[in-house]
Amino acid sequence: MVAAEKQKIANFLDIVDDFLGSGYRSEPKEYNFDDDSSAPSQSAADSLEQIAKEIKLCRSCPLCEKRLNAAPGEGAKQPLVMVIGEGPGEDEDKQGRPFVGKAGQLLDKMLDSIGLSRDVNCFIANVVKCRPPGNRDPFPEETQSCSHFLNRQITLLRPKFILIAGRIAAHTLLKTNEPIGRLRGKFFDIDSGGLKIPAIATYHPAALLRNDDYKRPAWEDLKLLKSKIDN
Ligand code: URA
Repeated sequence: MVAAEKQKIANFLDIVDDFLGSGYRSEPKEYNFDDDSSAPSQSAADSLEQIAKEIKLCRSCPLCEKRLNAAPGEGAKQPLVMVIGEGPGEDEDKQGRPFVGKAGQLLDKMLDSIGLSRDVNCFIANVVKCRPPGNRDPFPEETQSCSHFLNRQITLLRPKFILIAGRIAAHTLLKTNEPIGRLRGKFFDIDSGGLKIPAIATYHPAALLRNDDYKRPAWEDLKLLKSKIDN
């Protein structure tokens, strides 16, 4: 059994334990499970197609109940930049593709302004692969339950840079609750199996559509990413 499967079982047992104990959900716990040595090594057997297949069949959290289509992610197989957002919205749920609604169209324009595109040099994904009902924020146990898919995607894709779109993705990937205004504008290292990937967070394109004040700082963040790429 692989570590991700063991983690899922442990999470489920923790939920049962909380339910039978206090009745309240406690902070999700991280266990450091190893893969069984008899199982094939995950990276050797893994592929983007396999991950997408598992995502489409996944019933590990309540988000599966109301989804029309999961949106595993799409783009270049050896991306210069991996863009990571929050989760599918209504349009993404209908199409099973990430960032295809209004926010996605703006994201495509933002990427284009610094020479990036999902058709050529970017891979686009989300921290949760199924739409949270009514576009609410995903719950921590939902991001936790989905995290092994994103981790496996990062491990396989080995992007040179990560662009984090919005607060939820920033909190999930950078493991902090700092406001996005304090996280943006600088680089962090994201550790993926020993590989340190430079990552920058910025405002979510949907936030830019709601509030013009975010446009200038988001543009500054994109320019910072571009200059790091060029260097
Ligand atoms: N917002 C996101 O964070 N991701 C999508 O795929 C669409 C909208």
